[in-house]
Amino acid sequence: MKSEGLILRKYKSLYLFNKHRLMSKQNLSIYNSLSGQKEAFQPIYEGRIGMYVCGPTLYSEPHMGNMRTFINFDLIYRYLLVAGYKVKYVRNITDAGHITNSAGEAVDSIGKAARQEQMQSLEIVYKYNVIFQDLQRTYNMLPPSIEPTATGHIQEQIEIIEKIIENGFAYTVNGSVYFDVKAYSEKHQYGILSGRKIDELAEETRELNAQDEKRFFADFALWKKANPEDMQIWRSPWGDGNPGWHIECTAMSTKYLGNHFDIHGGGMDLKFPHHEDEIAQNCGSLGCSPAKYWMHANMLNVNGQKMSKSFGNYFLPMEIVNGSTDLFEKPFSPNVIRFAMMQAHYRSNMDMTNDALIATEKGYNRLIEAMKTLSSLKTSNESSQNIEEMVESFYAAMNDDFNAPILIANLFDAAKFINTVKDDNATISASDLELLTKAMNTFVFDVLGMKAEAESANDRLSPVMDLVLDLRQEARTNKDWTTSDKIRDGLAAAGITVKDSKEGTSWN
Ligand code: AMP
Ligand code: ZN
Repeated sequence: MKSEGLILRKYKSLYLFNKHRLMSKQNLSIYNSLSGQKEAFQPIYEGRIGMYVCGPTLYSEPHMGNMRTFINFDLIYRYLLVAGYKVKYVRNITDAGHITNSAGEAVDSIGKAARQEQMQSLEIVYKYNVIFQDLQRTYNMLPPSIEPTATGHIQEQIEIIEKIIENGFAYTVNGSVYFDVKAYSEKHQYGILSGRKIDELAEETRELNAQDEKRFFADFALWKKANPEDMQIWRSPWGDGNPGWHIECTAMSTKYLGNHFDIHGGGMDLKFPHHEDEIAQNCGSLGCSPAKYWMHANMLNVNGQKMSKSFGNYFLPMEIVNGSTDLFEKPFSPNVIRFAMMQAHYRSNMDMTNDALIATEKGYNRLIEAMKTLSSLKTSNESSQNIEEMVESFYAAMNDDFNAPILIANLFDAAKFINTVKDDNATISASDLELLTKAMNTFVFDVLGMKAEAESANDRLSPVMDLVLDLRQEARTNKDWTTSDKIRDGLAAAGITVKDSKEGTSWN
């Protein structure tokens, strides 16, 4: 039976833990790209959050830069869950459509890859989706609530385009449909998210060709008439063709989260034109902007330049894990790579270098070692430090726009405290120890998403062996050779060798 003391202690640490969790729900602030400011977070429906994040275009293996964005949103998702929200997290898979390249042209990347690899479009997407799903598990990312595909929502996209035409914000030319930015700008503000002015855009795109069909340079495709070389084609009221890129996110976000939802996220490079055009499509069809908070994760760079397939300066996530890239002098575990990512705030640029990963590995091991030490600390009625304050600092860091680097600094302070208690042979109160253990486990594993090392068979055996060797020692002290021999022979039969030396007894 549990003693009353133990029950009270458990109750107290649980109470404190829930208190902090509750406070975190009230104190969360998020940087909203729409206002360019940190804002107090207030969900549209109490206790529930709808979050949409633009997912990958699966025409090739995602590189480490792509993974950084998804890992950052995994951190955000994890913290919202730990704060006690019920979150519906939708992240799409782009498996159709024409992406606008940096020259403003519509490019069918999936079709291009399919022709190169002599496969069908969906074969290409499936091939890279298997790799992407594996990577998610490797990097300990929680699966989203739904991962809808563009090809599974063509009808929804067509219906939204029809509404936009009906509302007078789109026109049809030669089997294609374009969004009419000028007509839209008379009633709404095009550029509300990116701050782009239409006149400035004109400067940027003046030299471009392939603008012929459009009435205005800033208009963008909602539906593209099929080309003879297109590998995927759908029927539509405007003839056979393909959806434009931006429309899929409008269709899937509103289908699963409603016309107005809490958070829309993606990489910083999607802010314009993708997200700007999503807002225009939503306002132009449903009359309202999709999300209350827009969040943009910053880029993973290589020598100051954005990692990108087209620049050729990319490395693949598994190349660092298996050590097959010359950029790093040794392999690093997914835990270390993820921890390195967590040490840069999601809105900051980040460079991933060999030296940084070596330092991260040392730091991470130190933190985990300190956490293992927790269970061996001595307890008494008093703690030398205010543990509640320490735990509050973990929440405060994450409440400040998901500031994981500050959280990690606070976790290192806690590790220092743990090591000092141990080295000084000092004590910590039992309920504080329970609170600190629970909080550190929560923040390191549940929030930062570190994977707990699998317990080895030897780890489990270790306390049992301590006991058996103690009994053997007792028998030897009592000159009870029969028992001590029985133990040694029994262990040998189980494949365990016991070795006595001046330093003590060891086993293997
Ligand atoms: P894509 O598959 O090209 O549509 O990109 C998928 C996601 O990765 C998008 O949210 C991009 O913003 C993001 N992304 C692309 N390159 C990088 C990079 N170098 N660093 C961080 N995120 C990136
Ligand atoms: Zn999108």
